[in-house]
Amino acid sequence: MALVNKVLVVGGGIGGMSAAILLSRQGIHVDLVEQNPSWAPDGAGITISGPTLRSLREVGVVDEVLAAGGFWNAIDVCDANGNVEATVPIEPAIGAQDLPGAAGIMRTTFADILGRATRNSGTNIRLGVTFEMITQDAEGVEVLFTDGSRARYDLVIGADGVNSQLRKLVKPDFPGPRFTGQGSWRAVVPRVAKNSTIYMGKTIKAGMNPISATECYLFVLDKREGMDFIEPGMWPQLLAELLAEFGGVIGDFRRALLDCSLSKPRLLYRPLIGHMIDGPWHRGRIVLLGDAIHATTPHLASGSGIAIEGAIILAEEIERRRSLEGALLAYAGRHYDRAQLVVSASGRLGEIEREGGSKEEHTRIIVETQNALRFPI
Ligand SMILES: Cc1cc2nc3c(=O)[nH]c(=O)nc-3n(C[C@H](O)[C@H](O)[C@H](O)COP(=O)(O)OP(=O)(O)OC[C@H]3O[C@@H](n4cnc5c(N)ncnc54)[C@H](O)[C@@H]3O)c2cc1C
Repeated sequence: MALVNKVLVVGGGIGGMSAAILLSRQGIHVDLVEQNPSWAPDGAGITISGPTLRSLREVGVVDEVLAAGGFWNAIDVCDANGNVEATVPIEPAIGAQDLPGAAGIMRTTFADILGRATRNSGTNIRLGVTFEMITQDAEGVEVLFTDGSRARYDLVIGADGVNSQLRKLVKPDFPGPRFTGQGSWRAVVPRVAKNSTIYMGKTIKAGMNPISATECYLFVLDKREGMDFIEPGMWPQLLAELLAEFGGVIGDFRRALLDCSLSKPRLLYRPLIGHMIDGPWHRGRIVLLGDAIHATTPHLASGSGIAIEGAIILAEEIERRRSLEGALLAYAGRHYDRAQLVVSASGRLGEIEREGGSKEEHTRIIVETQNALRFPI
């Protein structure tokens, strides 16, 4: 007999959609509610690391992601004016040597691809809906939805992101995500290079990762004292100030920011928050997934990867265990160390950048963590 027959996924982001696809594949009835009526995420580009590509193959969407996005097998390390000083190859993930070292894609395009795969999996999707009340007993979870409907489930998965509401039912004492002292700037710009490029300024570094044959996204992190709201009208000026130490292609972009000559200056600023919550990651029949339980800063471009790996492990444990409690304990047990590695290493990289710390330690952490993540889950 199946461990669960009917599952609710709360949150149609990267982790929630992956879980819905994988569980539907086992013949489980999956309902998914997403509070955003348009289902379109914010954001410029997202980097898909080699290990994340390997996981996306398991979810069944890697070919579509690679066809719509951009990919690369090396990073060009450049000076502040864009002169290439070194080219560092990226090893593909183990077990995925036929895939590129890394890829990038617009977040909206990635969400469309995963959204289509979720619909095709047979998942019953409701947009603009969330839960109003949840109660559980030994045999199931009773959910009242904001559209007034009710249903009973064997399992509820909280994949509702870094500010998860479901988390209150599983980890009521958790005080909330922590501001990390950095903000992230991203902008979609024309693609200028085959590889991913890093530009080493005097005090900060910027990078550009391809997201299609013709576009890439520029990323830069800056030191911030707090999470104050920054009016989007101010973003071009502030980003231009931040990029003042760069010439070359970034200098050109900076001038375009200042004279507003960019045709589509798709910019985004986000203060960075994060957390790593101790296991177990469930209470009774409610379990958390992805950023709801481990939210990382983007220094290793692996947040979506660990959300998808979590979905794969959760689905595998549900398929092979004899008790739900055993499956949910095994999910956190198998996934904790990898998620913790990404969150803590990314956090340390941010600290080094804020404090102007050791460049050697920064490089060592990136190399060691990426090598560890190349191993299969
Ligand atoms: C600035 C920045 C850059 C990043 N860059 C990268 C990168 O390059 N590569 C990478 O791998 N990772 C990156 N990440 C991390 C990555 O975006 C996340 O780790 C990933 O999106 C987590 O997926 P998730 O499904 O857990 O959450 P999300 O993708 O946030 O999805 C949560 C979903 O739940 C919905 N929701 C929320 N509350 C409710 C509710 N109550 N009811 C119903 N629905 C709800 C939301 O609308 C959303 O659709 C970045 C993160 C940040 C902040």
